Amino acid sequence: MSRRAKIIATIGPASNSIDVLTQLIDAGMNMARLNMSHGTHDSHRSICEKVREISHQKGTAVGILLDLQGPRIRTGLIPDDLPIELESGTRIRVVSEPTPSTSKLININYPYLTKDLKIGDQILIDDGQLELKVAALHENEIEADVITGGLLKSRKGVNFPGISLTVSGLMEKDYEDLTFGVEMQVDAIAMSFVCSGEDMIDLRGAIENLAPECDHIPIIAKLERPQAIDDLDSILEHSDGVMIARGDLGVEVSPERVPSLQKQIIKRALAKRRFVVTATQMLESMIRNPRPTRAEASDVANAVFDGSGALMLSGETSIGKYPTKSIQTMNRIILDAESHAAEWGIRSINEIDHRLDGAVATTLAARSLAENCRVTAIAVFTRSGRTARLMANARPKEQILAFTPETDAYRQMALLWGVEPHLVPMSQSVEEMIDHVETALISSGRISKGEKVVIVASLPIGAMGPVNFMLLHTIK
Ligand code: PEP
Repeated sequence: MSRRAKIIATIGPASNSIDVLTQLIDAGMNMARLNMSHGTHDSHRSICEKVREISHQKGTAVGILLDLQGPRIRTGLIPDDLPIELESGTRIRVVSEPTPSTSKLININYPYLTKDLKIGDQILIDDGQLELKVAALHENEIEADVITGGLLKSRKGVNFPGISLTVSGLMEKDYEDLTFGVEMQVDAIAMSFVCSGEDMIDLRGAIENLAPECDHIPIIAKLERPQAIDDLDSILEHSDGVMIARGDLGVEVSPERVPSLQKQIIKRALAKRRFVVTATQMLESMIRNPRPTRAEASDVANAVFDGSGALMLSGETSIGKYPTKSIQTMNRIILDAESHAAEWGIRSINEIDHRLDGAVATTLAARSLAENCRVTAIAVFTRSGRTARLMANARPKEQILAFTPETDAYRQMALLWGVEPHLVPMSQSVEEMIDHVETALISSGRISKGEKVVIVASLPIGAMGPVNFMLLHTIK
């Protein structure tokens, strides 16, 4: 059985060559992530071109995820890029004007410092490694005590835990990056530091304004602020999927809250039939080492047991020493976890409520039919990818083969749990669908005569209506 949870790998200096990208795809990367906090449009364009070229040559669906930086707050530049020491117990000045930082005066690129912060608030820098506490507020600057000091480098991430910020939503840079992403025809768009469902409505609106034909690109809300957890229902309503961005989430809400939030978010997202990506520090030590820690192996396996649809690697594949080994390792851990999913994992969401539409009911019925008749696979015919998403959400035991004539749906489906995308000409009849399924399964040696498959589709063919048809087919 192939791996069901998908792997997203962030591409950066360690992996942006044809050779390494080929290795990553061979090792099981399903989606390449462009982190717009780093790199240039030229460097990201070259990654897109390479990923497209390699996946085309190999006949494998590999998607591209555009990850928008959003309202990310950072410290300023340090002269000559030499780290400066912030000494615990000292008091420093913090300003928002772009002033070169020193050990007594630092710059944070947030214009509402004095408006949003109050005395006693925490300022966490560089993933919480450095901690400041606001001691005094002036018109254009604040004074802060260094609680936990250390070395400060240029442009490090800043968090103000628990503070409701004036700035949220898409920034000017995000609009530029979005324009680039639409031009590159990326296969999913994630937005950082989402605070509310409104942010996702705005993202969808911005995509539609830029290119109405791209309105179907899946959008993913990165959950890293407490406000996002408070507004999760609305965020889920207006997103196709969510990402548990554990790096910033762990700084904003504290690390000990991350494990149970992870479980809660996954459960609520699956109940709303949205896909979920679990991200960050999954194999962090593999940035430097060829083998993971046992704690990391457990973390990856537990993310699978929790029901994640995809797991994401960041520094491991973008700047690490072992990008390919990281994917191979993640692949093996996921496969092992999935072989024990019946004992430990969330398998499916069975909560069927009265509002459930016919399409969801059909995919759940297909799952039961597949299980009761012990079929080899479930084949889905879809133009937009929607039926494949619903089928993936039903979490069947069997592999889902998704057939589509549309190249964008083909690549977008690379992210879906348990889905193997196939690009085929448009089927004009149920008989043609059966031919596609038999060809795919027999040519890959995964099925023999007499075995069964369930075929799921929408009739009339081509009308793009909701899924309403299933067929139990015995391979001739
Ligand atoms: C995170 O904070 O976990 C995350 C994925 O965001 P980024 O890598 O964009 O900082």
